[in-house]
Amino acid sequence: MKQTVLSGIRSTGNLHLGNYFGAIRNFVRMQHEYNCYFFVADLHSLTTHPHPDNLHGNVRKVISEYLACGIDPDVATLYVQSDVPEISELYLLMNMNAYVGELERTTTFKDKIRKQPENVNAGLLTYPVLMATDIIIHKANKVPVGKDQEQNLEMARKFARRFNRIYEVDYFPEPEAFSFTGELIKIPGLDGSGKMGKSEGNAINLVDDPKIIRKKVMRAVTDAGPTELNQAPTEPIQNLFSLMEVVSETDTLNFFKEKYAACEIRYGDLKNQLAEDIIKFTTPIRDRILTIHDDDAYLKKVTKQGAEKARESASRTLREVREIIGFRSF
Ligand code: AMP
Repeated sequence: MKQTVLSGIRSTGNLHLGNYFGAIRNFVRMQHEYNCYFFVADLHSLTTHPHPDNLHGNVRKVISEYLACGIDPDVATLYVQSDVPEISELYLLMNMNAYVGELERTTTFKDKIRKQPENVNAGLLTYPVLMATDIIIHKANKVPVGKDQEQNLEMARKFARRFNRIYEVDYFPEPEAFSFTGELIKIPGLDGSGKMGKSEGNAINLVDDPKIIRKKVMRAVTDAGPTELNQAPTEPIQNLFSLMEVVSETDTLNFFKEKYAACEIRYGDLKNQLAEDIIKFTTPIRDRILTIHDDDAYLKKVTKQGAEKARESASRTLREVREIIGFRSF
């Protein structure tokens, strides 16, 4: 039997290069080898974006972008999280066996408290429980994620194990983080440090047009230049090299690394080249996004078909979980 794979992306804005190289690239490859579920995490998005204005529009964006990246909805199950109400019920049940202390200690929670002190809601605290629920509701074995999600995935493993222990069953598999290269990656942002992220304001989106991409790359943080031969690149420069590593030819990357090592690098040239290579990579995806985004009939068909397939699997799990926990009907 094929192993099951699950992955999701929050619908809080456009997909960026970090999403693509950290997660989507792996799952596009996985869809033909595994039983794959991909979803748009619109319930998760309420933890940071609680207003109705952009909720639906953002789901449309992310679904179109997923499809444009090559997810085939006839092969994989592609759905919107809120179309599957079984997730919310299992989330409630999983919350009963999640402890406040362990949730308060997660890095993502601590980060969010710092970023939005005015809205430290309970959904933020239980974010890892919802994430675990998304995974275990399909009894997924593998989860293609970027490095930033490593700790949340560890929590999902813990919740799956705990459920099995409490109810003395061998029911949920322990999901593993997955990447074809064997290592989870982190795509850096253009601001010199940290990861590329939707809320960090340092991202290059797959839908950005060439003019915007050139502008963003040209504004990327650099340093005053190398001062010694063969010195290790500083973080902002290493970040530009890391982006080149995923979008440029190896020869191009090596050329600029050698120039850096010889103290002959011109950051303007490096940025120009990086911008052109990003544009070359994103242009076909962008063209497909723009076509799919306005195709109401297609998006309706895809999400309806996805919700039906996802609910079939989710309701089976929920029925069995209710049985294991001890709910009985009269
Ligand atoms: P998010 O955009 O936070 O919902 O993340 C969706 C997926 O993209 C998760 O699997 C993340 O690990 C991945 N991801 C997001 N940002 C990055 C990044 N900068 N580098 C690598 N993976 C990322």
